[in-house]
Amino acid sequence: MSWNETQRSAPAEFACSIVESLSRHGHQALLAGGCVRDKLLGKIPKDFDVATSATPDQVRQIFGHRHTIPVGAAFGVITVIGDQASGNVEVATFRCDGGYSDGRHPDQVTFSNAEHDAQRRDFTINGLFFDPLTDTVIDYVQGQVDLEKRLIRAIGVPHDRFNEDHLRMLRAVRFATVLGFEIESDTLSAIQDLAEQILTVSGERIAAEMQRLLASPRRGSGLNLLGQSGLLRHLMPKWDWQSPYLHGTESFARQSLDQAAISDSFLEVSLATMTLQQRLASHPTAESVPWITVLSSTSLVMDDVVRAWKLSNESKAVFRAIHLHLATVARARQLPWSQLQPTMIAPKIRAVLDVATCLQLGGWISREDIEVCREHLRRPIDELNPAPLLTGDELKKRGFTEGPHLGRCLTELRRKQLDRELTTIDEAWEWVRAQK
Ligand code: ATP
Ligand code: MG
Repeated sequence: MSWNETQRSAPAEFACSIVESLSRHGHQALLAGGCVRDKLLGKIPKDFDVATSATPDQVRQIFGHRHTIPVGAAFGVITVIGDQASGNVEVATFRCDGGYSDGRHPDQVTFSNAEHDAQRRDFTINGLFFDPLTDTVIDYVQGQVDLEKRLIRAIGVPHDRFNEDHLRMLRAVRFATVLGFEIESDTLSAIQDLAEQILTVSGERIAAEMQRLLASPRRGSGLNLLGQSGLLRHLMPKWDWQSPYLHGTESFARQSLDQAAISDSFLEVSLATMTLQQRLASHPTAESVPWITVLSSTSLVMDDVVRAWKLSNESKAVFRAIHLHLATVARARQLPWSQLQPTMIAPKIRAVLDVATCLQLGGWISREDIEVCREHLRRPIDELNPAPLLTGDELKKRGFTEGPHLGRCLTELRRKQLDRELTTIDEAWEWVRAQK
């Protein structure tokens, strides 16, 4: 497997130059972890990590204090700062991690050699090293075999490794999903045994993993594996676990998430869709859906997720948009433009349409209603949201006084404008005069 193609990228070249400098100073240095895995899979690594026998102090001396940040000095991690094109590279001293009393962080680390450093890593495919100076893979953990077999396998005894760090259980499912791999059976059994421990991991870390898992186009299969691993039940305790939409490997809910093209807000769209489908299970046709009830109960579940995972205001806005606008999208063709238009200009409307598209696959929303909405979104913004024919200020200048009457006039004026009952400013004034 040649390294050449990625060597031409600026980040790869920068990482290799760091390895070279370290070796020139008499230290062993290797590319490590995810970048080696991705390279062997023929992917472009997202970032590069270097592992070395040099101590953090030596690393800082070689690259200079101004070009390094001691991000995790206690764990032996130094960031070496690159230019804009190269990005930064983390240089970590070979280490063993000793004792994990909090189920997440090693109590202390001991600087060590490459072999021990491979053994403290989570999965065999993440435990590989690559020496760019000799173009060789260094594999202490049989990671290359598992890459070939497309398996996520814990390094060492799976139970012990997951007990040390509970987040690894979720990482296993995330890697399997993103890479399209399977989880090796002993590794999966250990996760099934320890699944409940995932609740000891902070909400932010869980959310970060879930974001990455659900951003994968295989997100539906990922949820399936998350279910199979036993983790999902603890991550989503408020789901309706009796619902047929959560059972069986061919669960329709997850299939729809694999099929529908989702453009962004992956976590929010996926979780809202899954929750809605459980609520919709007892309403087989589009006509019989009691949207208000279904959306309110979904919203309660989403509020819970927002709280537990400390999701951002951005996420809250997506869930809110789904709550406020999905029912309108579902009735798009029946509604006058004045009622559909506020939904079409609402923030996060694209995420709402993505949820609608997933639900359309189950027959709860018709394709035509969604298409009408998507068509509207292709119109220029001044057509979608035209300036008002008359403003409140203009009305006040002509003798209207502030108050509910003015408010009602403006609302009605806007409705008539959107529904094209009034098309010119003159017509608008004529209508306004009649209201005085
Ligand atoms: P990606 O960056 O695509 O998520 P990655 O494998 O680079 O994948 P990182 O989280 O960046 O993942 O970690 C870099 C490496 O550090 C991993 O490849 C793995 O060897 C090791 N590692 C990361 N997290 C853990 C952990 N929780 N337990 C043990 N080793 C870990
Ligand atoms: Mg990485």
